[in-house]
Amino acid sequence: MVRKKFVSGFVPPRESSGPPWWFAFRESNLLVRREADAVTLPCMADLSDLGLVALESHYLGQMGEKGCYAVGLADDALPPPGMSFEGLRQIYGLLDEDLFWVATRAVQIVQWDRTHRFCGCCGLSLRMKATERAKECPQCGLLHFPRLSPAIIVLVERGRELLLARSRHFPPGMYSVIAGFVEPGESLEEAVMREVKEEVGISVKDIKYFGSQPWPFPHSLMIGFTASYAGGEISRDDSEIEDAGWFSGDNLPSLPGKISIARKLIDWFLAKQGNL
Ligand SMILES: [Zn+2]
Repeated sequence: MVRKKFVSGFVPPRESSGPPWWFAFRESNLLVRREADAVTLPCMADLSDLGLVALESHYLGQMGEKGCYAVGLADDALPPPGMSFEGLRQIYGLLDEDLFWVATRAVQIVQWDRTHRFCGCCGLSLRMKATERAKECPQCGLLHFPRLSPAIIVLVERGRELLLARSRHFPPGMYSVIAGFVEPGESLEEAVMREVKEEVGISVKDIKYFGSQPWPFPHSLMIGFTASYAGGEISRDDSEIEDAGWFSGDNLPSLPGKISIARKLIDWFLAKQGNL
């Protein structure tokens, strides 16, 4: 996924070219204005014009002419008239797609700022670095960068069938492709082989990169792959997986929403089979 409209930045431009977009969060919920069948973001010189107090503010970069700012609000902040706080999953498809993906950056920066206040080594209060998006400890110098957890996600194919599994955490009836966090010291390909083996007991080969997607729930980076079945019978890991099986395009269970790379992988497979 490459988005050309947004240019990441750390230092705001000296001269602003009009009011910026405000990505203001109460916990992980974004402040939006509700319209008939869409939502929009506040765009004004200062968020205080809405009677809101920013606990912290981070310049994220430029969307065309407009600056983009991530803002954390108090947990008891009230939405101004005509506005509401919404979870990002709830507004996918309602907010402009480019702004939506900037919002996924914004929520992670705000949450990082909130949850990284003290040095993990010596316990002192951290300070924001002036030259890059990081916090540093004034005593021991340890740097704390925004937290990012890489996770692999893989579509395994066997002829005209694909492997789908049901995690215990999924909504009722929904199945998806296999995913899991990368372990320290592991390559992405090793993570793919390990996760598929651990979760459903099969071996894979021909691992190919598919694409990647930020997944801000709360701070993952999903790295997508396709792979082919290489051997073994499906045996579930009971702690994680409730059910798993081989499915063909004309016999599919409920699938993840269009927001996810999981669905992009499945749609890619179905299109290849002529089922989409
Ligand atoms: Zn320290």
